[in-house]
Amino acid sequence: MAQMDEGARAGAGGHVAAAADAPRLAPAAHEWLAADLRAALGAESVLTAPADLVAYGFDASFLEAAPDIVALPHTPEQVAQAARIATAAGAPVVARGSGTGLCGGAVPIRGGVVISTARLNHIRQIDAANRRATVEPGVINVELSQAARPYGLYYAPDPASQRISTIGGNVATNAGGPHCLALGATAAHILAVQVALASGELLWLGDENGVQNAPGLDLMGALIGSEGTLAIVTQIVTRLLPLPESVRTLLAIFPDIATGSQTVSAIIGAGIVPSALEMMDRVICQAIERAFHAGYPEDAGSVLLIEVDGPRELVEAQAARIAAICATTGARETRVARTEAERAALWKGRKGAAAALGQITSSFYLQDAVVPRSRLPRIMERVEAIGAEYGLLIPNVFHAGDGNLHPNMVFDRRKPGDIERVMRAGNDLLRACVDLGGMVSGEHGIGLEKRDAMRYVFSARDLAAMAQLRLAFDPRELFNPDKIFPESAACLEASAPIGLRGGINAWFC
Ligand SMILES: Cc1cc2nc3c(=O)[nH]c(=O)nc-3n(C[C@H](O)[C@H](O)[C@H](O)COP(=O)(O)OP(=O)(O)OC[C@H]3O[C@@H](n4cnc5c(N)ncnc54)[C@H](O)[C@@H]3O)c2cc1C
Repeated sequence: MAQMDEGARAGAGGHVAAAADAPRLAPAAHEWLAADLRAALGAESVLTAPADLVAYGFDASFLEAAPDIVALPHTPEQVAQAARIATAAGAPVVARGSGTGLCGGAVPIRGGVVISTARLNHIRQIDAANRRATVEPGVINVELSQAARPYGLYYAPDPASQRISTIGGNVATNAGGPHCLALGATAAHILAVQVALASGELLWLGDENGVQNAPGLDLMGALIGSEGTLAIVTQIVTRLLPLPESVRTLLAIFPDIATGSQTVSAIIGAGIVPSALEMMDRVICQAIERAFHAGYPEDAGSVLLIEVDGPRELVEAQAARIAAICATTGARETRVARTEAERAALWKGRKGAAAALGQITSSFYLQDAVVPRSRLPRIMERVEAIGAEYGLLIPNVFHAGDGNLHPNMVFDRRKPGDIERVMRAGNDLLRACVDLGGMVSGEHGIGLEKRDAMRYVFSARDLAAMAQLRLAFDPRELFNPDKIFPESAACLEASAPIGLRGGINAWFC
């Protein structure tokens, strides 16, 4: 958030031009770098025209900054070549999937080369016997489950953006989703990744042959969620799960947010971990109904969308138990989806909630933070208080089972000062979550927007240790500079009591 105060300014379309004063590629350097990339990838795989670059300068946050060059490789080897050529020239390199990130992670704040994975979009193998798939990073999330379905398998992590976000972007952000409550976020479903390093080498982390519990340091663990700051993901081996025998989807309807959020802990405290446990408030339900006619009540204070899956008998017993718990905690009604069409409509509404907000506003700021789930009732009170303090309508739709909040702060981006107002409100919310033992991101990552908030939870020593690991992968800090870390490794070295080596980036100096 602090980047807003450091000279960022509102740009066309309400986006915020990031690092307007950052040094850019000199014209001569631009020419020969583009020529080298064309020689390696082919002319049709390198974009330099300003009109083409614009589309690669923003994501789903408010931030924007055009790159100098876009590379569109077809293969992992070409990704590695593009990375080597760019870093040899001292140019920053930003990996890009679909650009649905919500915190500026894919925005090339210092220009340089964007390497898009859009053309690496092949599912290379579905290994049904070993329940694994090997995919390229540009594969769209939902396409993997569609391809695995004939084998009775699916890929579990399902971010609400799954119809457009890439698996490479999901790995880079360790994406969560409605069905990650029982089964874990992306990291729990990745067996191996191939990456391109800044040096231009290709390397497998994890075990691409599916042997588990390999000895040595878990470098793949460090890579997942590193938002393109360590390496570029070029292939991914994922786990696939068998499609559940039976699924039950319930919609519990509550008079207010408090009873709904208390029910979340009551269900899990009773020993049931549903496959999904999502909350929506009145404004969200109304917006969804207007957009999709999905079957949500427009007069509820809040609803919980709850799903259980597994063997039929267990599922029936759990669904009945959940309905009974909801009745005791204050639900006025608990409906069960009677058909697959009713279930699909409820999920279409939930996953389309952000789009449905277009029914009531043209601009909203989607915040992402997490608290221990037992503290949901307290943080929801705080969300309401922040809304009152800043004069903001804040509809909520979120992964309640994970304690992962998504308040949507409604504002008017055409009004001077409004973006700054919602950013300040969002920052207060992050602090409130940390005060309750939570974290500054539950799933969307840190990117550019929240890098200063890293200090709310990590000491200078913690950050320096992370930066040191980063330097081991990328000694010149050219991969996605300015993301995640509040300062460069060199600056962190000065402020932290442990030593760091190297890391001065000639491009920036
Ligand atoms: C409507 C909507 C709903 C959403 N719902 C969810 C949700 O339920 N759960 C959730 O977690 N997120 C959600 N998101 C956020 C976003 O979709 C995820 O963060 C997603 O994982 C980003 O994927 P992408 O392909 O768009 O990546 P991008 O936005 O292109 O990039 C995201 C980050 O990953 C890096 N990156 C991309 N590809 C690679 C690669 N191959 N190698 C290394 N780094 C790479 C980028 O540099 C950047 O830092 C939502 C977003 C929207 C707009």
